[in-house]
Amino acid sequence: MTPMKLKKLVEEMRNLCQPYCITDGQDFRLKNVDPSDTRPLKPEDKARAKETLQTGIETLAKLQDMLYAQDSWAVLLIFQAMDAAGKDGAIKHVMSGINPQGCQVASFKAPSAEEQDHDYLWRCQKRLPERGHIGIFNRSYYEEVLVVRVHPELLDKQKLPSTLVSKKIWDQRFEDICAFERYLTRNGIAIRKFFLHISHAEQKRRFLERLDTPEKNWKFSAADIAERRYWREYMAAYQDMIRATATPWAPWYVVPADHKWFTRAVVAGAVIDALASLDLRYPEVDKGQRAELAAARKALRAAREPPAR
Ligand code: ATP
Ligand code: MG
Repeated sequence: MTPMKLKKLVEEMRNLCQPYCITDGQDFRLKNVDPSDTRPLKPEDKARAKETLQTGIETLAKLQDMLYAQDSWAVLLIFQAMDAAGKDGAIKHVMSGINPQGCQVASFKAPSAEEQDHDYLWRCQKRLPERGHIGIFNRSYYEEVLVVRVHPELLDKQKLPSTLVSKKIWDQRFEDICAFERYLTRNGIAIRKFFLHISHAEQKRRFLERLDTPEKNWKFSAADIAERRYWREYMAAYQDMIRATATPWAPWYVVPADHKWFTRAVVAGAVIDALASLDLRYPEVDKGQRAELAAARKALRAAREPPAR
C-alpha cells in the first residue's frame, strides 16, 4: 500500500470511529447513544463496510509489524460490555490478521482466592502488554466499578479493611483508575477503551438464538439471564464510569453494538487510528550497521556451497 493510500484509509477509519469517541465525560449521557446506530453507514453499506474492514485488518497488520519492530510503544485495548454484546467476536475479527506473537488477550472473570488476597489492579498489572505488543483485556479492572457496584455484596469478599469501605469508594476507584491510566500512558502504553453498547431487546434476541441453535447452546448461561434483571443498574454504572474515566489519553469508545458488522468496523477504525497516531517507524540502520550489512551480503554471496560427501 502506498503512503497516500494508507493516509486515506487511516483518515476514513478515523472519521468512522470519531463520533463514538469520548475524551471528556463531563456531559456524557448514555441515552444519547443509540445501540442500533450505524451512522454514517447505512444497512445497504454492510457489504462495503465488510470490505473496508478487510482492508483495515491488512493495514492493522502492517502497523503492528512496525510497533513490534520499533519495540517502544505498547497498546492496551480494553473491552467492556453486557453479555452477548459481541466482545469475543469483535476481538476475533479485528485481530484476525495480526501476528499472534505480538498480541496477547487476557480475560478477567470473577477473581480467584489468590486474586482476592491482592489489590484489584494486581491481576491486571501482571497481564499488561510489553513494549512492541498489543494487549487486549476482555473485561478488566473496570469490573470493579460495574459488577461490584451493581452487587455491593461482592465488596465484602474483597477483604478490605472496613474503615476503607465508605460511600466514597466508587469515586475513589475512579480516581485511582484515572491515575493508573495516566501512569501507563506516561510509560509508553497507549490505551483505548471500548464499551460495546447493546440494547436490552437485542440482548434478548441473542440469548434466544443461543437457546434455539444447538451450536450456540454452549454459550448460554442461566446466570446471564439473571443479570438482565439489573439492566438499569448496569447502565447507570456504565454511564458513571464513562463520565469519570474518559480522558484524552485513555478515551472511551461507546460503540453501538446491535449490528455486529458495524461494531467491528468502528473498533477496527479506532485501533488503526490509535496505532497511526503513534510515531511508529522501523528502526533505522546507521552508517556502521549499513557497512556491516554490506560485508555480510558480500561474505554470503562469496561463500561456497558445502562440499558434497
Ligand atoms: P463469555 O460469556 O462470552 O464467555 P464473559 O466475559 O462474559 O464471556 P464469563 O465467564 O461468562 O465470561 O463471565 C465472567 C464474569 O466474571 C462476569 O459476570 C463478570 O462480571 C465477572 N467478573 C469479572 N471481574 C470481576 C470482578 N472483579 N469481581 C466480580 N466479578 C467479576
Ligand atoms: Mg458471560
